Amino acid sequence: MSTRIDLHTHSTASDGTLDPAELVRAAAAAGLDVVAITDHDTTDGWEPALRALPSGLRLVRGAELSCRWDGEQPPVSLHMLAYLFDPEHPELVAELTRLRASRLARGERIVDLLRADGIDVDWTQILALAGDATVGRPHIAQALIRAGLVATTTEAFGPDWLGKRYRLPKDDIDVFRAVRLIRAAGGVAVFAHPRASRRGRTVPDELIAELAAAGLVGLEADHEDHSPAERAHVRGLAAELGLLVTGSSDFHGSHKTVRLGAFTTSVEAYERIVAASSGVTEVASG
Ligand code: AMP
Ligand code: FE
Ligand code: FE
Ligand code: ZN
Repeated sequence: MSTRIDLHTHSTASDGTLDPAELVRAAAAAGLDVVAITDHDTTDGWEPALRALPSGLRLVRGAELSCRWDGEQPPVSLHMLAYLFDPEHPELVAELTRLRASRLARGERIVDLLRADGIDVDWTQILALAGDATVGRPHIAQALIRAGLVATTTEAFGPDWLGKRYRLPKDDIDVFRAVRLIRAAGGVAVFAHPRASRRGRTVPDELIAELAAAGLVGLEADHEDHSPAERAHVRGLAAELGLLVTGSSDFHGSHKTVRLGAFTTSVEAYERIVAASSGVTEVASG
């Protein structure tokens, strides 16, 4: 049987619905051989995922960094996957801490905007339900669902709600700085869903070439937010620039419909990522 590798998943440490232990158990149950935990702007899920790692499963510790590109105004937001970096690298830790604080302030401002329009959502309750997680729009989406204003998370991300009308920027990290810091921390940077146009504006290929020159290692090609043509384009670009390609589910539990292992990464790409890293090791269960 072929090796099944899924390098992009979320837990309750950010906006997923399975806690890290449940996530690794679900990964094993889904028949994966390798899973990466890549919560937004945090490494808090690493330890509990490691402790619960089922036998036969390998864990790649990672994160998905909220980045911005200042080449357009307002800046374009993008996501950078970071694998196997040192979680104690001081500058990286400082950026992640700052990002999470910015998310808190921005979440509260979004709730203020909603309340000013007479929409009954409560920040204290949203925070309580999020626990220690990196707070994001999905947590506010759940409040809109509880209030009966929308039926699904997808609807909550529509233009009348968190997708546009009540969308506010957060203080994302400059994408070149992110790539440099990931490398400085011994990690490997892979650009997440670079062509996912339904999430908002995307960046030009020229920027991806500049990022490759700055130390970017790979591009996520197979992702549910990419059309077949977009996947092919990303593969072509990666081949041109000497970057590896990944495929991953970007699993978020019940916040999205995609399943673990819905898209997978080749053994060759995975081995290149491991070989290029020096921050923490990939872990195999005993
Ligand atoms: P934030 O990080 O707070 O800006 O929220 C972005 C997160 O919301 C992404 O990481 C996804 O998990 C989720 N998301 C974005 N767009 C959608 C969508 N259309 N439907 C469901 N979830 C979405
Ligand atoms: Fe997310
Ligand atoms: Fe993402
Ligand atoms: Zn993600």
